[in-house]
Amino acid sequence: MSFKDLQLIDPLLKAIEEQGYKTPTQVQKKTIPLVLAKKDVITSAQTGTGKTAAFALPILQLLSEKPEASRGGKTIKAVIVSPTRELALQIGNNFKAYGRHTHLRSTVIFGGTPIEPQIDVLTKGVDILVATPGRLIDLQKQEFIDLDDVEILVLDEADLMLDMGFIDDVKKIVSLCPKEKQILLFSATMPYKVEQLANTILNTPERIEI
Ligand code: AMP
Repeated sequence: MSFKDLQLIDPLLKAIEEQGYKTPTQVQKKTIPLVLAKKDVITSAQTGTGKTAAFALPILQLLSEKPEASRGGKTIKAVIVSPTRELALQIGNNFKAYGRHTHLRSTVIFGGTPIEPQIDVLTKGVDILVATPGRLIDLQKQEFIDLDDVEILVLDEADLMLDMGFIDDVKKIVSLCPKEKQILLFSATMPYKVEQLANTILNTPERIEI
């Protein structure tokens, strides 16, 4: 199976080729069609399996198919919550690379670093926000982030996020997004507390195990 068989659009296929990826990984083959079909998905996969592209590519596709994308929509349409700044930066770099032939704008925000440059970017408007939980809530409280138009929410490394004590922040972020949204949950392991979270926030999810 090729990336083209996954029904990805040309701007993404071009970026994938430029990345040097020849064939989709297992997690990409299984996850991409479900995300494109707008399903909620729980994927258990480790880092290194290609899971970032498994959610980034279909998110870029779903958002670039919307007419306002070409006009430079000003509201956040997708949020990716990540436990650490390193992971958030990696995810942000992937969105930039895969989305380079689309009109979509993405940014990464995380704590422990000056907030003003992040506010500047947010004020100009982004389609895709990658964030660590604390800084996201902080900026939302200060009204620099509005999650009212979010269509897709990704919880990446959910097990690590809960181990790091972010459960209340994650629940808060979920509650700040509209009720009608697509949620994708990625976790290396599926302990009970991750299952419990998934059961409360996802809507009849599809499950993928790698
Ligand atoms: P991840 O699991 O998302 O952290 O990805 C692990 C690494 O695999 C990253 O360096 C990606 O650039 C790379 N990668 C992702 N998808 C593919 C693919 N289909 N073919 C080759 N490398 C890939």
